[in-house]
Amino acid sequence: MDINKLQRENIKNLRPYSTARDEYKGQASIFLDANENSYGSPLDQNYNRYPDPLQLDLKDAISKIKGVPIENTFLGNGSDEAIDLLFRAFCEPGVDNVVILPPTYGMYEVSANINNVEIRKVDLLPSFQLDLDGIAEAIDEHTKLIFICSPNNPTGNSIIRTDIETVLANFNGLVVIDEAYINYAKQRTFIKELTEYPNLVVLQTFSKAWGLAALRLGMAFASGLVIDVLNKVKPPYNINQATQDIALKALENIEQVNDWIKITVEERDKLSSDLAELAMVKKVYPSDANFILIQVDDALSTYNALVDQGIIIRDRSKVSLCEGCLRITIGTTQENEILLKALKSL
Ligand SMILES: *Cc1c(COP(=O)(O)O)cnc(C)c1O
Repeated sequence: MDINKLQRENIKNLRPYSTARDEYKGQASIFLDANENSYGSPLDQNYNRYPDPLQLDLKDAISKIKGVPIENTFLGNGSDEAIDLLFRAFCEPGVDNVVILPPTYGMYEVSANINNVEIRKVDLLPSFQLDLDGIAEAIDEHTKLIFICSPNNPTGNSIIRTDIETVLANFNGLVVIDEAYINYAKQRTFIKELTEYPNLVVLQTFSKAWGLAALRLGMAFASGLVIDVLNKVKPPYNINQATQDIALKALENIEQVNDWIKITVEERDKLSSDLAELAMVKKVYPSDANFILIQVDDALSTYNALVDQGIIIRDRSKVSLCEGCLRITIGTTQENEILLKALKSL
């Protein structure tokens, strides 16, 4: 695969914005180059200087945890920014297309629509696994991206690893594996496979297991060539200084995150078996994530009855292949007990 050919013509020729921080990187003591307020910020902590555009300190700390070199790491304002940049860098509007595998995360389609890029949908099989023949048929020479969400949202299952490898080995564009929920999964991450597949992009996020959804920080791991393209296209200061500071602090507290992952998985498995006992629940789908998809007799009235008790879950019953389904995020032990009690009372 030739990354040069894969990117859009205008992006290939793009000269990126050069920031003041790009042009001078030495140890000077007086910075009068970026029109910042030299006096400070009206706060205890100063934010008057523009942040590091490449977030090297933060990437270094992430690299120590993930084992992925900095050159293979991109940080976005949420993984949603990485998704959007993949469209903007690689998909020619009105010409190129992408393959998505419904039922899946909604942002791939929204981003495609915003960027006027054709979407080719290949439904997952009833087992929520890949329809490899269907994917092969959907692809043509203008297909630039295939999005595989694993564990998949909203179904909760991991995609069979060898099926993903088949797509990686046979597709001449980028295979984007969205691992937002990988911390809860039995299946291992694909980030160790980056050296094997030049067309692999792995998305992860600080929004789920790391408990930092409000910060908006997502990660994309890929070959150096793909990362260079994303860096060229991104807004120069896409990760603000407060986010960089707070995320660095959070990374020192990985034990807490690992404890929560363990508890969440235990709660998920307990809630799954408790839900399966309820007469109204027709099916509890196996989950590798921090949520459970269940099929019930009457999704809308169940949803509304829970709302009346102050409990909000996600109604996915209008999504094809998810008819009658509700998606429930794993709460605290107490929240899960209250949910179960509420469902029993219906
Ligand atoms: C929640 C979620 C994300 C996270 O997106 P952020 O922009 O990083 O908050 C990404 N992909 C999937 C499938 C998700 O469910």
